[in-house]
Amino acid sequence: MSSLNIAFFSATKTDKNNFSPPLPTEITLHFFEEHLTPKTKNLTQGYDAVCVFVNDQLNAEVINALHQSNIRLILLRCAGFNNVDIKKAFDLGITVLRVPSYSPMAVAEHAAALMLTLNRKTHKAYNRVREGNFSLEGLMGFDLFSKTAGIIGTGRIGRQLIPILKGFGMEVLAYDPNPSTEAEKLGARYVSLETLYQQSQIISLHLPLLPETQHMINARAIAQMPQGVMLINTSRGGLLDTPAVINALKKRHIGYLGIDVYEQEENLFFEDHSEEIIEDDVFERLTTFPNVLITAHQAFFTQEAMTHIRETTLQNALDFKHQHINPVNCVQCES
Ligand code: NAD
Repeated sequence: MSSLNIAFFSATKTDKNNFSPPLPTEITLHFFEEHLTPKTKNLTQGYDAVCVFVNDQLNAEVINALHQSNIRLILLRCAGFNNVDIKKAFDLGITVLRVPSYSPMAVAEHAAALMLTLNRKTHKAYNRVREGNFSLEGLMGFDLFSKTAGIIGTGRIGRQLIPILKGFGMEVLAYDPNPSTEAEKLGARYVSLETLYQQSQIISLHLPLLPETQHMINARAIAQMPQGVMLINTSRGGLLDTPAVINALKKRHIGYLGIDVYEQEENLFFEDHSEEIIEDDVFERLTTFPNVLITAHQAFFTQEAMTHIRETTLQNALDFKHQHINPVNCVQCES
């Protein structure tokens, strides 16, 4: 039986290790370090499928090129699919399979790590102590106990965060257009978005980037939040109107910002740019604030999640080849 020839884009060293042999005999992977974009679309010629990640850009132009190359399968090694023109793929008969849930715990735990680090400034204390500076000046935090956290989006990840925050003794408010009884059982209380903004000292975003959620954290939303609010975003950078957030940081309205995602991250994240001049002035401004903590899209990055990504992606490829797709992993089956 001929093997399914897959062009694997945005391949890092970690990806190559994670997808190293033994592979199923019916699957061949060819690694490309490049992102799949309109500029690199011609690299897909001669393959049966593409395997992509969060910062590949599968817009209509790229999907048309895939179709012309006779590619009928897009394998996403992630859960989010905001970077794929799903309708175009559907219209052209291209199946899009993803890994809907590789480790919601990993992302929820990373959100908690950002909160704790920003609050207790352990990243600064680490450096100070190593330099023989044992001063506590500037390191004061606040008790999480009895404070209120607001979780926007109580899907797989948002729900995992509830017991973590309850464990600190926090009150947990939630907003989701599709409330879950499980979230309520875990101790979250659903409120309007307005109430969540007004009453939460910490706000954590766990909803998808959609046309209607793009830039939802804008000047109007921030104005409703309490002075000194902590904002955590491990979902997608486009949820924030970043210039409005920078403005609120300058006015001390946002007291802490922890982000694992950034709207223009595809030009930066997952690569070493340490020897270059970074030209993104908005990103560079963010890095200058002492109360901003940025990680480079690593919330998912645990051993368990990587194993799950490998297993589900390879199974998705085999399922497609044998024409019995798992509807849970099929993006178009959902829409
Ligand atoms: P999910 O689909 O299980 O849950 C998303 C929830 O958001 C759903 O309950 C949905 O009803 C809700 N929602 C939709 N529109 C909303 C709105 N306007 N306001 C409030 N809630 C809304 O998704 P998930 O697995 O929990 O993932 C959440 C997001 O996390 C993903 O969309 C992805 O962008 C991001 N993510 C990031 C990483 C990372 O490494 N940083 C890893 C995985 C996922």
